[in-house]
Amino acid sequence: MAIVDIVKYPDPRLREVSKPIGDNREGLEELVRDMTDTMYAHNGAGLAAIQIGVPKAVYIVEAEAAGRNPTDPPLVFVDPEITWLSDDKQNGDEGCLSFPGIFVPVERSKACRTKATNLAGETFEVEGEGLFARAMQHELDHLKCKLLIDYVGRLKRRMIERRLAREAS
Ligand code: ZN
Repeated sequence: MAIVDIVKYPDPRLREVSKPIGDNREGLEELVRDMTDTMYAHNGAGLAAIQIGVPKAVYIVEAEAAGRNPTDPPLVFVDPEITWLSDDKQNGDEGCLSFPGIFVPVERSKACRTKATNLAGETFEVEGEGLFARAMQHELDHLKCKLLIDYVGRLKRRMIERRLAREAS
């Protein structure tokens, strides 16, 4: 078990585009294990690999947030892509382990479908709505280096940056 430090904003690593895994699956299980332990330790609903400093296209969503049994392992998404977004939107406060204590309203599609491969390398497609859809859209953003703070205006952005700087010092 390894709980790893979470990369926090404004660490420049969060602005790195994550690279596809493809057939290069060496170390993938260990990476997902570290991500799982770290997400659980911080009570997160999801985590992208870049949030522990690894720029690979992998994210996980906590089982209950993914509509599964709470005791199930997290759902693992390798090389994910969104294949469908509903026109219906949802508005809600969103948090991120890389922005501790910060919640900002983000409009997302209410439902979406994601295609990815699992740990065994099998392709799957899953549809989710509500929190699950929000989590899949949020985590995919990380892989494309888009962050929570990109959804707020300039004033609120500066407020958040000041608050994070204060807490980090
Ligand atoms: Zn996040």
